[in-house]
Order: sequence, then structure tokens, then C-alpha cells
Amino acid sequence: MKTTLNLKPLWRALLGLAMIALLGTATAAERKIRVTTTTSMVTDLVKQVGGDRVEVAGLMGAGVDPHLYKATAADVSKLQQAEVIFYNGLVLEGKMTDIFTKLARSKKFVYPVAEGVPEKRLLEPPQFEGHYDPHVWFDVELWAMCAQTVVKGLSELSPKDKAHFEQRGKEVATKLRALHEWSLKKAAELPKEKRILVTSHDAYNYFGRAYGFQVVGLQGVSTVTEAGLADMAKLVDFIKKNRVKAIFVESSVSPATIQRIAKDAGVKVGGELFSDAMGTPGQMEHGYDLGTYEGMIKHNLTTIVEALK
Ligand SMILES: [Zn+2]
Repeated sequence: MKTTLNLKPLWRALLGLAMIALLGTATAAERKIRVTTTTSMVTDLVKQVGGDRVEVAGLMGAGVDPHLYKATAADVSKLQQAEVIFYNGLVLEGKMTDIFTKLARSKKFVYPVAEGVPEKRLLEPPQFEGHYDPHVWFDVELWAMCAQTVVKGLSELSPKDKAHFEQRGKEVATKLRALHEWSLKKAAELPKEKRILVTSHDAYNYFGRAYGFQVVGLQGVSTVTEAGLADMAKLVDFIKKNRVKAIFVESSVSPATIQRIAKDAGVKVGGELFSDAMGTPGQMEHGYDLGTYEGMIKHNLTTIVEALK
């Protein structure tokens, strides 16, 4: 039997393979690591460490409260498509806990950035029974530890870029060190007895410990439970007794209750602080970009210090 070898399909197949190989190398060189993050603070941190080697999709924008945030179907697909996921952790994203547990089971590269903070540096406020306070970003030193989780996660996913991420991690640490020093100096503009910070919810415990403020939040560590009338009356008494000059609203919590307390206590609202979400990128105030972590920290401290002076 005579067999004829038709070379055409073979050539086509070879050509196809060559093209795939070519395209493959081209995309590998330009290809960025797909990262999905939760809060805007975590998004900022991953961009700082990852630079142009990462493409970050942040799920929570300006004004979003992470304690209450529920993932949409689009969010879930962004999480599934990500090669690596960073979230805050310590139950900050309380309604997404199940999703992260499931993803961690199916996927290797899922990191709560707060795991970079040693347990002994974590606060465990009595009102958040059995849980640590998740608002670690307000102590800039602790946030620098969280940056190391990002270095670790990106390096584990892409070991060939390890040196690059470690180098960037060092630069981020240096920047955060300077921001911490700046914050200590700014806080010191207020005498110790005037450093009383009253806000909507207890987001500022780490801030208070790091920069020497007594911190009183109306709603407790999470915004899930609302303040009762008794809490409000107690807070009014506290403000009067301590001659607190101003109290503050938060961008991710409804301002109504704080406004009412300010009225009842006869004090002013000293401004809006960013607590669990940053501002919109490019939104400037006091010369700071509120859409960056550094801008948020500087804006908050400047607002607090100016209002309480
Ligand atoms: Zn919070």
C-alpha cells in the first residue's frame, strides 16, 4: 500500500507551535503578576512593594467600610482569577472570612498582611472578645511589618523576582520609617493632656498607642454593632469632663451620631478622618494626596492636631 505523506498539516502545526512560543516569551517579559486586594490601604501597600511587576485589582474603594463589605459576584471572580491575594486579616473583612478560607484551601498564594505583625504587638480590646484589633495600619511601624508579608507573598509566587521585591521592600520600609518619625513629631505638637481622640468607631487603638493619644470610639472595634443611647450619653459626659475641644467623623462611617454628640456636648466636629478606607486618588487636602497611605496618615494627624490645639 502506498502511503503519501502530506506535509502541509505538519508545517502548519509547526508554524503554530513556533508562534505560540514567540508570543509566550513576549507576554512573559511584559506579563505582570495579577494581584487582588481588599482595602485601599492593602492595595497601596502591594503597589508600593510590587511596583511595575504587579497589576493590582483592589475590591474596596474610597468610603467603603470593610467590616460590613460583602463580596459581589464580580469580586469573587477577581479573587479567583488572581495569582496572589492580599487582604488585611484579623477579621477586618468580617463578611469575607468564608471566601478567604475557601480560596486558601484551593489556592496556595493567599496572605493576610497582618500576619507580619508579631502577636505580642497586637492589641486585644475587651469589647472585641477573643479577637485582635485589626486596624494595624494606624501604627506606621506595624504597617512596615505588613509590607514584609507582601514581599514574602510575591517572592513565593515568583521566586525569580525575589531580590527585586526584597529591594523594593527595603525602600518601602525606609519610607515608612520616615513617616513614623514625622508622625511622632506631629503628635508632639500637642501637649499630652490634649491628646484625646474621640471618633465614630475604635479604629485608632494602635494609633493611640504609637503616638500617645487616649482613644475613645463610639461604636467599638467593628462598626457592626451600632451605638445605643446610653453609650452616647456616656460619651457626652466624657467629652465635657475632659474638656475635649473637638471630635471627629470618619469617611467610612455615617457621621450622624458624632454630629449629634458634638451638638449635645457643645464641641465642634474637628474634621473628617480616614479610618478603614483611604480617599480617592488625587483628592488633595493640606497638600496631601488622600488616595495614598502616606497622605491619609498625614491628613489624619494634621486634622487631629490642628483641631485639638
Ligand atoms: Zn474599623
